[in-house]
Parts: sequence; structure tokens; C-alpha cells
Amino acid sequence: MQDAIQQAMSSVRTLQEAGVRYVIASLVDSGGINRVKAVPLDRLVSAARSGIGISSCWNTALSDDAFTATEASGGPSGDLRLVPDTGVLVQLAHTPQWAWAPVDQYLQDGNVSPGCQRSFLKRMVERAAQLGFSVKMAYEFEWFTAREEGETLAPIHSGPGYSSAAWARVRPLAEDLLAALMAQDLEIEQFHPEYALGQMEISLGVGDPLQAADANVLLRHTVRSVSVTHGCRASFSPITIAGQVGNGCHIHFSLWSAAGENLFTGGDRILELTPDGEAFLAGVYKELPAIVAITCPTALSYYRIQPHHWAGAYQCWGHENREAALRFIQGMVGSRARTANMELKSADTAGHPYLVPAVIIAAGLAGVEQGLRLPPPISADPAGLTEAELTARGITRLPQTLDAAAEALEASRVLRSAMGDFLHDCTVAVRRAEAERSRGQSLDELVAGHLWRF
Ligand code: GLU
Ligand code: MG
Repeated sequence: MQDAIQQAMSSVRTLQEAGVRYVIASLVDSGGINRVKAVPLDRLVSAARSGIGISSCWNTALSDDAFTATEASGGPSGDLRLVPDTGVLVQLAHTPQWAWAPVDQYLQDGNVSPGCQRSFLKRMVERAAQLGFSVKMAYEFEWFTAREEGETLAPIHSGPGYSSAAWARVRPLAEDLLAALMAQDLEIEQFHPEYALGQMEISLGVGDPLQAADANVLLRHTVRSVSVTHGCRASFSPITIAGQVGNGCHIHFSLWSAAGENLFTGGDRILELTPDGEAFLAGVYKELPAIVAITCPTALSYYRIQPHHWAGAYQCWGHENREAALRFIQGMVGSRARTANMELKSADTAGHPYLVPAVIIAAGLAGVEQGLRLPPPISADPAGLTEAELTARGITRLPQTLDAAAEALEASRVLRSAMGDFLHDCTVAVRRAEAERSRGQSLDELVAGHLWRF
């Protein structure tokens, strides 16, 4: 805490000189909504010392601004302290009077809240380190941008996907956006206009899991802000136009030894995996039905993870198989030691930026501890296989509803023990309540209801 206060004091001086007047304390709540509380810059030191107050009902907030409860959380009493991480403080390049910092959630007794998703991720990173590993991760973001023209929405481009024609439409906005992101030290790996109407995509460079998660929140905040200046609105909802492909938020990850070796290559297991690399992936593979409750957290999400959408509808893995939940990217000969990684495709833009990497690490480490093995990789499109072929190869559909995913999460001992009872119970309760509130709604109603939440 003392370090954080020192850091806040020196940051205030630097930010003041750079023209910053306000700091956005940025929380992603249990419903996956990015909430902001801003303080004037001269309050930053006090925020770093004792936090910014917010009701503890945000432990069980839903994405539609309603709340649910668990036995241990809910109701009008209780206060959380949002403590900005002054080590991550960033001046927002597009709105330079404003700086941004992610928060950790504390209790008034000075302990970290058991419901703090960002602290859970830190615990998983530490646990990996104790076992002699580090994990590298990177997110890819797809999102939708449109101009509001009266009652109707005009998508910023109408395709074709990846085309120069679509690029010409998005270029003025994209130029400002990329400049802002790069000024904020986010490493851009790739950018392109994507396949669906008004869709764009950015892939960020690889970092440690906490960096990747913070970057996720910062990127989306910046996209929204730049879009508004261009007279547009941006949406990271899993599906923004019924009938179009959805917005994925695929996550790439790799496991590294303490000596700095990539354990997803150079070994004697299938596709050159090392034993620890394979066991980590087998742990993730095994927990996929429960993980999906975190990576596809809304009722709408299940309209996205459909066959033939490259969205990971089946619990299987494959070498560069874009229809598998887990697509193994072995990389080019000569660069594998640096680049071999796994991509989880059954993940959308409503997924909690901190919970997603945390549950992947938790499941992977359980796989290592249990020495799990992967089933054979699949190269076919699972949707093209007969029931008998699917059964023979042990391939099943991932949960097809939020109810089914919530049930898998509730039953997951691995994730309960990693998350702790409090966070696990809150997360399951939120998923169940989201499913309940969406019950009976048509796809069009779900799309409209979720459009401007994420
Ligand atoms: N839009 C697809 C999704 O919902 C992903 C397409 C791609 O692989 O780029 O995940
Ligand atoms: Mg894409």
C-alpha cells in the first residue's frame, strides 16, 4: 500500500505536467460491464490510500443494471473500496485531460475483496509462478461500429470483409483509434475490417495475463471514446446484427518454463508439445464446458457459438482447425519457440477480461497437477461428422445455453477451488440470473437488449 501511495504521488506530478485533470477508476463488474468512477487528479493519492467507495452489490450485478444475490453477498449494506492500480495509470491519448487506471476491490478492513476478479487473476499468475511456470496471453477483439441515423443504425462499412473498400470507409476513425492505442503503449499486432457489417478487428501483442486483461479494458474504453468523436457508437456485444457472424474475443495463450522455454513446442508429445504443455492444455480442454460460462457469459452468446462460424461450438482441439474450440497454432518452422500457442475461440466480447485468463490458468494448472493427456486432435469440421463419428472421436457440443454453461460452472470443482467459494457463488448466481432475465426473448430482442451494454 505504501508503495502505491508513493507511486500515486509521483504520478500526480507527471500527469499534472501532461495536462491531466481527472482519473477514471475502471471496474469490470460481475456482469462484465465496464463501470467508471472518476476523481479529480488531486484526489488520486487519497484514492490510492483508502479507495473509492462503491456498494458491495456490484459483486452480483447483472449486465442490464439489475442485481442478484447469494447467501454471502447482496442487499443494501456493505461497501467496497476501489483502489486504482497506480502502476498502470495511463493518460488517455484521445481525451488527454483524462487518465485511466484499473482498480482492485478491497474491503474496509484493508483486505482484498474475495469477489475481486482482478485479484483472482493475480493469484493465478502467482500460483503458476510457484509451480515454475509463466503464462503469456493475447486477446483479439472484434466489434461493431455504426452511425445512429434517427431510429436506424448505419454500419460503418458494408464489406466485403478484409477489403480495401471497407478499409476506405473505416480509415478516418481507424487512424485516430490506432494512434490513440499506440500512444497508450498498446502493442498492435494486426488491424482489419472484419467480415460482418460494420465489424472491425484488432489483435494485440502478447503480454503477461494481467497486462493482457488491463489492455482489454483500456482498448474497449478507447474504441468507444474515439467512435463517439467520429459520430459513431461502438458495440462489443456478442452479436450486433441478427443473422450476421458475431464478435469474438478469442484469447491466445502459451505456457513457459522458469528458464524461458515455450512449453507448447520442442517436446516429444503430439505436435511437439512438452509433457507440461500437453497437460496444461488437457486441463483447459477438460474444463471447457465450465469455462464457457465465463467466456460466453450472456444468453445471446449462445447464438454466436454455432457451427460454421469459426466460433468454437465443439469441445475439441485441432491443428489450425478454426472450427475447434481450441485451435493449436504451431507456428512457422524456425519461429515456433517464440510463437507456438493455443487459441480459445469459444470466447466473446462480453467475457470478463480478468476472469477469462484466470480460469484458463486455473484449469491448465489443474491439468499439470493431474498429469492429464489430450485426446487426438481433430482436423475435420465437427459439424460435418455424423453422430457416430462424433461419438467415436469423443467430440461433443459445448453448452448450447447459458443455463447449461452455468450448471457446468457450478459443478466445476477445479474452478470453485481456484476462485474461492465467494467469487464462484457470485459468478454462478449472476449467470443464472442473466439466463432467467433473458428467458423467452427472441434473438432480435436479445440483440437489441445487449447492443449498447458491452
Ligand atoms: N467472428 C468470429 C467469432 O465470432 C471469428 C472469426 C475469425 O476467426 O476471425 O468468433
Ligand atoms: Mg476475426
